[in-house]
Amino acid sequence: MELSLTVPPVHTTCPYCGVGCGVLVSPDGEGGTRIAGDPDHPANFGRLCSKGSALAETLSFEGRLLHPMMRDAGGALAQTTWNAALDRVARGLRGTLDRHGPGSIAFYVSGQLLTEDYYVANKLMKGFLGSANIDTNSRLCMASSVAGHRRAFGADIVPGCYEDLDQADLIVLVGSNAAWCHPVLHQRMVKNKRERGARIVIVDPRCTATAQDADLVLQIAPGTDGVLFSGLLSHLAESKALDRGFVRNCTTGFDAALARAREIAPDPQRIAESCGVAREDVATFFDWFGITEKVVTLYSQGVNQSAQGTDKVNAIINCHLATGRIGQLGAGPFSLTGQPNAMGGREVGGLANQLAAHMDFDAKSVDRVRRFWNAPAMAESPGLKTMDLFEAVEAGRIKALWVMATNPAVSLPRADAMRDVLGKLDLFVVSEVVAANDTIAGKPHVLLPAAAWGEKNGTVTNSERRISRQHAFLVPPGDSMPDWWMVCEVAKRLGFGKAFAFRYASEIFSEHARLSAFENDGTRGFDLGGLSDLSPLAYNELAPVQWPVPEGQSGGRNRLFANGKFLTPESRARFVAIEPPALAEVQAEPYPFLLNTGRVRDHWHTMTRTGKSPRLSGHIDEPFVEVALTDAAACGLEDNGFARVTSAHGSAVLRVKVSDGQRQGELFAPIHWSAETASNARLGALVHPMRDPHSGQPDMKATPVAIAPVTFGAHGFLLSRTPIVLPEDFWWARAAVYGGTLTRFAMNVPEQDWEAFGQRLLNAEGPVIELHDTTRRTYRAATVNHERLSACLYLAAGDHKLPGLDWLKKQLSAPRLDPRARTALLAGRAPDGMADTGPVICACFGVGLVAIQDLIAEGKAVSVEAVGHYLKAGTNCGSCQPEIKKLMTTTKGGRVLASAEM
Ligand code: SF4
Repeated sequence: MELSLTVPPVHTTCPYCGVGCGVLVSPDGEGGTRIAGDPDHPANFGRLCSKGSALAETLSFEGRLLHPMMRDAGGALAQTTWNAALDRVARGLRGTLDRHGPGSIAFYVSGQLLTEDYYVANKLMKGFLGSANIDTNSRLCMASSVAGHRRAFGADIVPGCYEDLDQADLIVLVGSNAAWCHPVLHQRMVKNKRERGARIVIVDPRCTATAQDADLVLQIAPGTDGVLFSGLLSHLAESKALDRGFVRNCTTGFDAALARAREIAPDPQRIAESCGVAREDVATFFDWFGITEKVVTLYSQGVNQSAQGTDKVNAIINCHLATGRIGQLGAGPFSLTGQPNAMGGREVGGLANQLAAHMDFDAKSVDRVRRFWNAPAMAESPGLKTMDLFEAVEAGRIKALWVMATNPAVSLPRADAMRDVLGKLDLFVVSEVVAANDTIAGKPHVLLPAAAWGEKNGTVTNSERRISRQHAFLVPPGDSMPDWWMVCEVAKRLGFGKAFAFRYASEIFSEHARLSAFENDGTRGFDLGGLSDLSPLAYNELAPVQWPVPEGQSGGRNRLFANGKFLTPESRARFVAIEPPALAEVQAEPYPFLLNTGRVRDHWHTMTRTGKSPRLSGHIDEPFVEVALTDAAACGLEDNGFARVTSAHGSAVLRVKVSDGQRQGELFAPIHWSAETASNARLGALVHPMRDPHSGQPDMKATPVAIAPVTFGAHGFLLSRTPIVLPEDFWWARAAVYGGTLTRFAMNVPEQDWEAFGQRLLNAEGPVIELHDTTRRTYRAATVNHERLSACLYLAAGDHKLPGLDWLKKQLSAPRLDPRARTALLAGRAPDGMADTGPVICACFGVGLVAIQDLIAEGKAVSVEAVGHYLKAGTNCGSCQPEIKKLMTTTKGGRVLASAEM
């Protein structure tokens, strides 16, 4: 009889977006890790998107910060012990407090932290250091939703749940490219459309991948969401679609909100003109919304990241309140959170304007939390929101700053200026997973190595209020420790040992749950009383649960407000009369375009994790700017050329993609590239510091910019086992490939110097073989060591063609080059004549653009399902299905007719 031993998989949660998918982790039997979707997790029922599916490729310890580091008197960073580093942080905080008072210190934390990390950071700052200057990078992501919820409902509550997306008959997506940014949820919506016939409406200035599955696309002018939803409110009133009983019995402020809506959007023609869309499309949308009972309106960064973000949120909520469509099966407004634990951070008080456990800074709450924590120095008023906080660093008012698990030198507006001000701090502490990033380039005095995903325990809360466990399944490398441990150790050194004597994450969670229930008579929606006495074992085995979970209960509630009772003092929801939107008109010279920033399908934030995955980097491997065809022609920009995009605050040089998804006068560029991964593509550097007056959330969707072509004499790429540093005046972008690094570049080295340049670049890797074709104006060089390819370089002048990457990438990862492949290296193509597959469309199965185009040319790609049948593309996570659909409409005979939006 054979005895087989199997290790049960670890149940954990994906570390990327706010969908919060359950993940199963197990050994793959070959020394690696197998990642699968958790079929029992209610957020994803086994599905993962391309990012989640590739998590195993991101677990290497390469680039990790392994030990505490401290800057010495001469300015050099040197390894030190935890004791010395933590003593230095505590000493620095104490000294700053004594000299300058609590207003001079700040923590800048992150939606990537676990709730337990967040809880102790908030407790230390607001209860023991006496300042409320702790804010989170969720300020850049969700703050306008928080402010809108609090205005309308009296608390920061998402009323609905994911099941509503399966049950809605009309799904409205506003400012959300869910197909790329919340792919697993998007697939649920598409399934609803396919199986139940739900309609999908997109409201967005960009025609994104999400639009591929839409029944109606309203490609509105930036900032006009408030006009559209004001018009909808007026329409609902005029077409007798109101739920008058609900409005009368469960709400306040309807008349004022309607009067304001009528002012803002007086008639259909004016709405269509202001929004820049066809009147018939507006009418269709209004009709569908009016006659459909089960409507879910989802909104994300396109709504939140706006100077009128909070009003936009309330304009949407107003329409749901007016129809009583809230907290019902298949109906409600729904904020899609960006980060994995943006919600958890909001729950503990990670935003500077909330105290803790969803409590405000009113005297009663301050006193309640003071007594609960036995806090010696309770903050009594809100602290500085992110932008104000960093401006206070700039002005010298903040003297000590601890940044945890985020990279503000890339992600903040005016990122260059914000990076530079970090040098002004008397004490600058960074706790991080990576050894180098743009924020660390700001020269912290102390660097603390943090445990990463898979190395620590805790909880996260997703967009539908569902708390899930993250479990450790790896031993943290080097000296890395969880952030909560660091905070507690500093607190102990400051003399607060008793209040921070937590030994395990479970103990922190219990206290967090108890605080949420402390003196909670039901007027505070956030209540985890039923989870406050979990044993360590029960915490370990905690199944995903939606809050609230009041005392005496173990299960949560999927929908809230179904009874028409809200959390305002009067128990009624509030309509908000929004301010007339300040429309983001196309600016005059010198910045005549509006720059919209966002994400791509397969990368996350500043790529410190996804950038490690060759699979994910195969989809888009360089920073780009999307430009409308007419603008490209007017500005002399060529598809695949380069452009400098400039604002009043900074500039970037990006690859040009001429796109039929862009409105005229508007540009789009992704946020992911940093100084670590590209020569000049830090988009935050361009973004203006405008912000919403209620939420403080920066407007990252409409920065006035200019765009102009940049020409280089030659362009090329370099595949190398280790990254090779290029000269400073080169444009370059780096991406992971199996076996090494791909560096795309452009330069102005004269052709007669190419050989010297190539030899200089590759010499360190071994003897160089090379071919300079002066007729075709191309240069190729490679080094082979011990029968393995070490590096290869391909250069072409002007718009002369480069070889395809696909076969060359395979040679870099091959354990040995066979003689035919070696001979073919300088030709840059497979000796058997196999065609290059082009950029990856389906990351799960590595299916390239060319393979799909060929299938279309053969007439076999009659549907997305048929493409899946022949190539498997799109049959796993489905994230690439919108792109496949788009290719089917833009490709004929294997030739792309319009620039595919990728
Ligand atoms: S949708 Fe993708 S990125 Fe988001 S949680 Fe799920 S697997 Fe992770």
